[in-house]
Amino acid sequence: MEVKVKAYAKINLMLDIVNRRNDGYHDLFMIMQSVGVYDTVTVTENTSKKISITCNLKDIPTDSRNIAYKAAEAFFSAVKRKNKGIDINIVKRIPHAAGLAGGSADGAAVIVALNRLYNTGLSDEELCRIGVQVGADVPFCIKGGTLLAQGIGDVLSKVKPLRKCFIVLAKPDFDVNTGHAYKQFDLFGKTHTPDKLGMLCAMQARDLNQICAGMENVFEQFIEVPNRINIKEIIRKNHALGCCMSGSGPTVFGIFEEKADAQNAAEELKKYAKDILLCTPVSKGCKIVE
Ligand code: ATP
Repeated sequence: MEVKVKAYAKINLMLDIVNRRNDGYHDLFMIMQSVGVYDTVTVTENTSKKISITCNLKDIPTDSRNIAYKAAEAFFSAVKRKNKGIDINIVKRIPHAAGLAGGSADGAAVIVALNRLYNTGLSDEELCRIGVQVGADVPFCIKGGTLLAQGIGDVLSKVKPLRKCFIVLAKPDFDVNTGHAYKQFDLFGKTHTPDKLGMLCAMQARDLNQICAGMENVFEQFIEVPNRINIKEIIRKNHALGCCMSGSGPTVFGIFEEKADAQNAAEELKKYAKDILLCTPVSKGCKIVE
């Protein structure tokens, strides 16, 4: 028996680091949006008593370092079930180490797939409690859509869905170390705090212009991403409603009302970014392919 799941990427319409906690983690305020770029994760039963992983990309670890592996272990432990053997196949389309939660999406997909495979009937809330042990973004990736994430990212509240729009993701060929990014915050703090209340009002009104005007990510204050300014310039020049960096970067995205504008921006961005994707918002984090 096998279960196949589409695991969607996310972007941050807003990301504020509220404070550093005594345990070293940070309290966050994030408006998260699932987007239609997905990895396909297929979980198949076998009799190996092991978790084995195959992936179409060579630079993704296929051992216990893979978030999908950790998610499977966390699931078996939470439901107190012995693993008789599973294979996890990951077809990656979400650029990795990009601020798009690609690894977390795969972890979420494995938890959702195992719940179906073994008919364990756990609710989304129960699946999220397993997911947060694996990574702070995993609960969002299980639920997905448009959500406010607080705490370390695991306290999720509903906000109204984003209106139809076109989103261009541009990931420059550059790696960001998330740990280093948080250290910069701990050392220097932030110089500007995003207007969280204004954003929540704009979300409630589903006012796409106001949402895009209010988008802000505090990581942009400490992370230097090469070509970020040029990328934003191209996005704006092509009539985007707004642009922002996602997560701890380096992906920068633009939101467009018109598909043709998004297509033109995507074409022009090729000179500054390695991975360029055009997508729309989606209402789920994981979708079982029936
Ligand atoms: P976030 O937005 O949550 O910070 P990200 O998009 O920046 O996530 P990931 O795509 O999750 O980053 O990848 C970060 C690192 O995690 C990769 O460099 C990779 O070595 C490792 N990793 C482990 N499992 C996976 C996976 N299933 N997919 C991608 N990367 C994985």
